[in-house]
Amino acid sequence: MGTWDEPGAREWRQAVDAADQLRGPKVPVGELPGYLQGCDEVDEVRRLMADPTVPGALTAARAAMRRALRVTPQSCLDQLCYEQRWRGRNRWDGPLQVCDRPTCGRCLLLKAADGDGNAGHSRTA
Ligand SMILES: [Zn+2]
Repeated sequence: MGTWDEPGAREWRQAVDAADQLRGPKVPVGELPGYLQGCDEVDEVRRLMADPTVPGALTAARAAMRRALRVTPQSCLDQLCYEQRWRGRNRWDGPLQVCDRPTCGRCLLLKAADGDGNAGHSRTA
């Protein structure tokens, strides 16, 4: 049985989506630390790839690309975001339920708006 066939799962998903729509984004994506860090890495990639004859340049460029991918926020929810929030819903009693996926386009914004970078999880500590 898939997650979204479990009792109440689809209704829960609709409810959290509706709550997200009401809340709207409070932090511009362009201000997220991961976005800025990703931009820096891409600049580094461009610099390194400008001259591919420099020894080690392409290896360093590829490493920078991987770093960029690890931090650049996604345009939408991480594919595991719903799943993780559904599984953790009983531990999070507040409305600000976030996943801990490092590039989730939804939850990074909520964590940034909350200010402590750890929104939702502080309740469980
Ligand atoms: Zn998320």
